[in-house]
Amino acid sequence: MGIPRLEICLDKIQHNATALAERLSSRGIRTTAVTKAVCGDPAIAAALVSSGIDLLADSRLANIARMRQAKVQAEYVLLRTLASEADAVVELADVSLNSELTVIGALSSAAMARGKHHKVILMVELGDLREGLLPAELFNAAAAVLQMPHIELHGIGTNLACFSGVRPDRDKMMQLSRLATAIEHRFNIKLAVVSGGNSANYDWLMGASDTGRINNLRIGEALLLGCETLQRRPIPGLYSDAFHFVTEVIEVKTKPSKPYGDICQDSFGAVKRFEDRGRMRRAILAGGRQDVAVDGLIAPHQIAIIGASSDHIICDASQTSLNPGQTISFGVTYRALLAAMNSPYVAKTLVKGK
Ligand SMILES: *Cc1c(COP(=O)(O)O)cnc(C)c1O
Repeated sequence: MGIPRLEICLDKIQHNATALAERLSSRGIRTTAVTKAVCGDPAIAAALVSSGIDLLADSRLANIARMRQAKVQAEYVLLRTLASEADAVVELADVSLNSELTVIGALSSAAMARGKHHKVILMVELGDLREGLLPAELFNAAAAVLQMPHIELHGIGTNLACFSGVRPDRDKMMQLSRLATAIEHRFNIKLAVVSGGNSANYDWLMGASDTGRINNLRIGEALLLGCETLQRRPIPGLYSDAFHFVTEVIEVKTKPSKPYGDICQDSFGAVKRFEDRGRMRRAILAGGRQDVAVDGLIAPHQIAIIGASSDHIICDASQTSLNPGQTISFGVTYRALLAAMNSPYVAKTLVKGK
């Protein structure tokens, strides 16, 4: 029971995974569960797999290695592929997302050297301006990939609403569908996977009368935090509280609300201005920027976070009576989850129940 700790409810994650995979499957779409926000945590990965998901994706090979080491049985998809890691990619991942022929060439050599076959999904740029081949480059790239030994052109995919927040709407999904069909006709092949996007595709999915050729989505945040990601609205029937950041009160005192003295930079180089709201009961919690993205914490009703340094979270506790030694439980957004999972100072504790 460390402080601070991230409490993880596997039952809620499993419920979310079962419910969401069922909704996707009823529209002919397979779920790839994305584990990068939880650093490939094996217990969480196992919970996802036990809810019937058999495709796990992560952006980091270290996380895939961790899940494999823990004997979590799934097909593994690498979301971000580096040429310098080609050997490890073909060793650890069954499938990888790619947008550069030189990188796929390195995968081909690595796969050949190991007598393995590696599946490649070509990513297509449809407006979000992160990874992907421009649609005009896709055909030449597909032709080149089809020539590469030990590489299988497994499918195409796109990623929207990640870097620029571009909505994966009907138009974008039709565009990807048309590209899939065009490639199949041109090269007389069948693409196993047309991967339409991520948690941001939830609205499109639920509203679509025709999902076209899309038969796969890669879902992280919606499974873990129970929300879609265009507006962060909760998804009906899913839990948005599978994770809690728990910490302890270390000081409670009534102090002025406005700092006094000559104001210069704080510990992170910012010069802050505070309004004078008179005297205020203030609480200090054990936790800070070394533990979590403090601005991504969801505070309980009577508490408002004022700010944080490396190891201290400062709160306005005027609406509640807190005592040193008391624990406080916060909800987390994606940002806070990601940071807490990555902090060695935050204990990860499994809790039961729904
Ligand atoms: C992170 C990531 C996802 C999952 O995104 P969520 O918003 O967590 O659903 C899907 N695809 C790619 C390529 C990613 O990098």
